[in-house]
Amino acid sequence: MATIFTKIIRGEIPSYKVAEDENYYAFLDINPMAEGHTLVVPKKEVDYIFDLDPDTLGGMMRFAQQAAGKIKNAMGCKRVAVVVLGLEVPHAHIHLIPLNRESDIDFRKPKLKLSPERFTEIADKIAGAQ
Ligand code: AMP
Repeated sequence: MATIFTKIIRGEIPSYKVAEDENYYAFLDINPMAEGHTLVVPKKEVDYIFDLDPDTLGGMMRFAQQAAGKIKNAMGCKRVAVVVLGLEVPHAHIHLIPLNRESDIDFRKPKLKLSPERFTEIADKIAGAQ
């Protein structure tokens, strides 16, 4: 059965897309730790990130680097944190999280609740950034 992220990539489940190419897809996390919290996924469906073949993993990092640049410019944060957990969805993914201070990264904190309009606004801003 396809993972939820494969369904998102195929457009069977809606997402707030920020970037896409032939092999990778980036979209806003629906339970964001900060505005602009983005997930980067390979279109190839592999559960554990370090089971990806080296070329796909390398390409995923390059794609994430470009997405992180857009997030930084769009959200005006100091840096973009890179986190890999992957315990919830069995499809390799990288969290890119706008970062201004270390305490911004805390997965136990309550997640932000954003309106669909705000998610759309943020996704469009990131997608349109340099
Ligand atoms: P983890 O596997 O622990 O890295 O967590 C998976 C992440 O995927 C969580 O932060 C969820 O909020 C996020 N997530 C799950 N379903 C969706 C979805 N339909 N759209 C966007 N993000 C999602």
